[in-house]
Amino acid sequence: MSILVPSKTPALITPGRQALDSALHQLDQAAEHLGLDHGLRTVLATPRRSLTVSVPVRREDGRLDVVQGFRVQHNVSRGPAKGGIRFHPGTDIHEVTALAMWMTWKCALVGIPYGGAKGGVAVDPTGLTTRELERMTRRYVNEILPLIGPEKDIPAPDVGTDEQTMAWIMDTYSVSAGYSVPGVVTGKPMTLGGSLGRSGATARGVQIATLSALGRSPEGVTVAVQGFGKVGALTAQYLADAGCKVVAVSDITGAVYASGGLDIAGLRTRAAETGGVHGYRHADALPLDDLLELDVDVLIPAALEGAITEANAPRIRARLIVEGANGPTTPEADEILNAGGATIVPDILANAGGVIVSYLEWVQNMQAYSWSSGEVELKLRDLMESAFSEVKSMAAARGLTLRQAAHVIGVGRVAEAHQMRGLYP
Ligand code: GLU
Repeated sequence: MSILVPSKTPALITPGRQALDSALHQLDQAAEHLGLDHGLRTVLATPRRSLTVSVPVRREDGRLDVVQGFRVQHNVSRGPAKGGIRFHPGTDIHEVTALAMWMTWKCALVGIPYGGAKGGVAVDPTGLTTRELERMTRRYVNEILPLIGPEKDIPAPDVGTDEQTMAWIMDTYSVSAGYSVPGVVTGKPMTLGGSLGRSGATARGVQIATLSALGRSPEGVTVAVQGFGKVGALTAQYLADAGCKVVAVSDITGAVYASGGLDIAGLRTRAAETGGVHGYRHADALPLDDLLELDVDVLIPAALEGAITEANAPRIRARLIVEGANGPTTPEADEILNAGGATIVPDILANAGGVIVSYLEWVQNMQAYSWSSGEVELKLRDLMESAFSEVKSMAAARGLTLRQAAHVIGVGRVAEAHQMRGLYP
């Protein structure tokens, strides 16, 4: 067992702690392969800055609630810290640290000049009114204000946050600065300097990764997608548009299945109206957990961490798994799936489209200029495809899995930047 992975006391193992253990395990494997020394491994295993804040929220009935917020900058050796902000009741400092670490490797892997960060507030945003959500967001941003800035740390959407959240962040920061600072956050609405193609970017990237990994015509390839949110729903749509047969999707309300393929556009409209896929009349209902174990060609986990574990991995039949979510597969499950001959396109590669277009949005903001959707799409495709082929070649040349190869490239680039810069003071 690695010295980087603290010993486990079962009572203390939260999902966040499990995510961090997975991230540290992946780092350890890559560091071993790269022959990094103990000191450098420890630097890379430890966040550069980590802030926990208490966020008081005045509720509509006059009550005062206090929620916990976090912002972790894992690494800034290659550029400003970059990564989303998550509003989810299960979020804790360990989860945010793991997600920040994955952002560092992701940005390095796709060659964009950023370090990695993540933020989170332990709250269920669906339990707040819009006004409460706005007050909470602005107060959280105010608490992390010393950390963020267009040259320091640039937040973006993640689970439970959207364009509106980004607009409040941009406004709160700008009011404090005294002038408009669009480059402080990405994933903004178009009117505030958002980029064409950003809202569908993660899903477009998952589509590109899936088609690259398939290496054959997508016509009739069967797909199941876990998660029907910002990433899952559009991934299902783009894969269906490419000719795949998306036979099953799920969200927290339930799972639906149609052997002839789902009408994804119809399902998206309906889910937007009713709040979920449950009860969709043109498909069969499926027990939630069965979705992962369907006999399909491609499985896309696009929900939360830890979806595929040693408990369900032996029953997974898809030969290609493309990780739309961050950290959906535990290291134990990863080993089982690899041993069974499945190919896994890892999160830091498969879902990098989001941060790639975030980068393009930030570049446009810094130049006060905007590109056409065609230009954005071309640059996204180019960065995704080059990263995919680099990972594939590295895996083939060194006998690694795609996940190991992606981490060796990402961790290797950050280690190199760190060594070139040296220590100061
Ligand atoms: N939250 C997304 C991710 O996990 C996007 C981050 C960003 O655009 O900075 O990659």
